[in-house]
Amino acid sequence: GSISRREAIKAVTAHSTPECATAQAPLAELFGVNVFDKSAMKDRLPKSVFKKISATIDEGIALDPTIADVVANAMKDWAIEKGASHYAHVFYPLTGFTAEKHDSFLEPDASGASLAEFQGKTLLQGEPDASSFPNGGLRGTFEARGYTGWDVTSPAYILENPAGNTLCIPTVFISWTGEALDKKTPLLRSQQAMSKQAMRLLKLFGHNDVDTVVSYAGAEQEYFLIDEHFYYARPDIMTTSRTLFGAKPSKGQEFDDHYFGAIPDRVLGFMIDLDRELFKHGIPSKTRHNEVAPGQFELAPVFERSVLAHDHQQLMMTIMKKVAENHGMTCLLHEKPFAGVNGSGKHVNFSLGNSNQGNLLNPGDTPHENVQFLVFCAAIIRGVHKYGGLLRASVASASNDHRLGANEAPPAIISIFLGEQLMDVFDQIAKGGATESKESGVLELGVDSLPPMKADPGDRNRTSPFAFTGNRFEFRAPGSNQSISDPMVAINTILADSIDFLATELETLTADGTEFNAAVQTVLQKVITDHGAVIFNGDGYADAWQEEAAARGLKNLRTTVDAVPFMAEKENEDLFEKYGVLSARELEARKDVILEQYALTILVEAKETAEIAKTMILPAALRYQGELAGIAVSVKAAGLDATNPLLTDLSTAVTALGTSLASLEKGIEAFHGESELEESTYALETLIPAMAEVRVAADTLESLVADDLWPLPTYNEMLTIL
Ligand code: ADP
Ligand code: MG
Repeated sequence: GSISRREAIKAVTAHSTPECATAQAPLAELFGVNVFDKSAMKDRLPKSVFKKISATIDEGIALDPTIADVVANAMKDWAIEKGASHYAHVFYPLTGFTAEKHDSFLEPDASGASLAEFQGKTLLQGEPDASSFPNGGLRGTFEARGYTGWDVTSPAYILENPAGNTLCIPTVFISWTGEALDKKTPLLRSQQAMSKQAMRLLKLFGHNDVDTVVSYAGAEQEYFLIDEHFYYARPDIMTTSRTLFGAKPSKGQEFDDHYFGAIPDRVLGFMIDLDRELFKHGIPSKTRHNEVAPGQFELAPVFERSVLAHDHQQLMMTIMKKVAENHGMTCLLHEKPFAGVNGSGKHVNFSLGNSNQGNLLNPGDTPHENVQFLVFCAAIIRGVHKYGGLLRASVASASNDHRLGANEAPPAIISIFLGEQLMDVFDQIAKGGATESKESGVLELGVDSLPPMKADPGDRNRTSPFAFTGNRFEFRAPGSNQSISDPMVAINTILADSIDFLATELETLTADGTEFNAAVQTVLQKVITDHGAVIFNGDGYADAWQEEAAARGLKNLRTTVDAVPFMAEKENEDLFEKYGVLSARELEARKDVILEQYALTILVEAKETAEIAKTMILPAALRYQGELAGIAVSVKAAGLDATNPLLTDLSTAVTALGTSLASLEKGIEAFHGESELEESTYALETLIPAMAEVRVAADTLESLVADDLWPLPTYNEMLTIL
């Protein structure tokens, strides 16, 4: 049950900050102490075994199963020294959450408990009951077998708990037919597909010695913090992770005084502790600051291989929630916990690279001469244009719909921002050939004591969903609570397709006798002519862009229900099948799971809305109405004018709440659908508007009912008391 608003406020104001852990080890010494990483392996494994496992981690060479026993044994010894009593295969089901199945290292029998052998096969494969994870019809409940398989490329780690530690082993999760039931398997497959095509392209540029091309990801994570007492006083946040009610605060973010403002002490304490925990797990947390809204913050790690970044991102969200709890706060990762207040996203920065050449998206100072870079950029431009609908679908969820397609960054239309310098180079290419690059300027500060600062060759554009930011692209549409797997799978796969296309074009032209540089020019010109429509450097929030984008033929998929069916269109089905990332069945299943989750999310929100309206808001309003009516009777009896406009307004709002509540309840009652698509369409078209009506009436009541009777902590209270 929840606590009352009064109790919450009292408890929050009595909060005292936990003592700062100054005695703890320096941050640098903590990095990776809980990780069975390469340095731990090097210390503990025979040289030949270490060499083999390194080759698997770094170059994706298949793991030699004969070394599994040796690795498992070393890992177990390491984990037990770290206080672990159990081990868990960690996997990433289609819900987007992280799942764990724990087993004990100890084997209890009649004579007591002895240390179990942790064999190679136990490390390599597990078998959790898969029947309670969504699978989109890939498996009937009678065929419950699912397997977890060790992903050697992601290191095992220790998860601490005051009561005992656990060795966590990152795995993939597949059905007994070998179909992917998780977010990790397609990510690994897409990385491999992209790498294969990128190596092919690099060969054309004379780089024959490249072993692999890696996609990198760095995800900036936005989040809110509220005091835990408010959390426990808001049943809507407890069940749905967002507020379903709440009038706009008198002071919102109009003053722009929170962004990059001084971090409140209590929050800073949390952030310092969080960094320490993340470091222990080898997660390279780097940047922290306030975000736009009050109570909103951001954390950015240093980018890593996207497969590893994915696992780290999942673990990071878990650790954020845990550390917040230790500090008496709740960390909200929902995309829109507070209506009318800035929402939270997860900007996924990505690039490609390898150990020989570094970052392949680095333009250098003269991008017009860096043809290899331009070809990779062209691949991205083509991919984003051709598969914009797929990219949109890859970030679709009930919660992210509150950002995309609503009046918030970024819009649901997927376009690319190139920045001034690169745009100019592609403009020249379109006209026949690039001969110069705009130089980056020097900022004149007008203060003699300050050295001149170098300006970037292009400004930023905050409204673009897909922006070139100097040496990487930033996909800004993913949701704050989302796994980065879906967007990275989409990006890797469309890159595989585009790079394949460009490499084939170049091969064909050169085979016909065209000189290589001329062939590159032809291909670049073709891409910019055919796909330039996706480039947009203007204001993505403006209404004019909605019209222009439509004229350019760009999709504007506002809701999940609009976007997700696109996933399984023939074109996308072919794409995923061609590169071995997802079979048609796997793709179809994923589509159904997203829609099912969407419908369920909204159904739960609708039920919670009805319950709070009925059991908390309506009673408060009726009590107040009774009080005012009683006063009117006394006032009249005293021979005075008893007309009270407040009572009239209140009664109108009470009636409105009653009517809208009745129709919401009817809507919930009638929830149905023959398919996931029908159910989610019903949720979109019937439940969402019905909830909105209840909310309007309830929020009106919040501004009318006496403050001492109002049951829910207000936006002002939750967002500003920390
Ligand atoms: P900004 O506020 O400019 O977006 P942040 O420092 O908040 O920058 O975050 C930038 C993110 O981009 C970080 O996670 C960073 O590691 C990541 N990043 C930087 N360079 C690359 C790259 N080459 N590839 C992928 N991600 C990168
Ligand atoms: Mg940032």
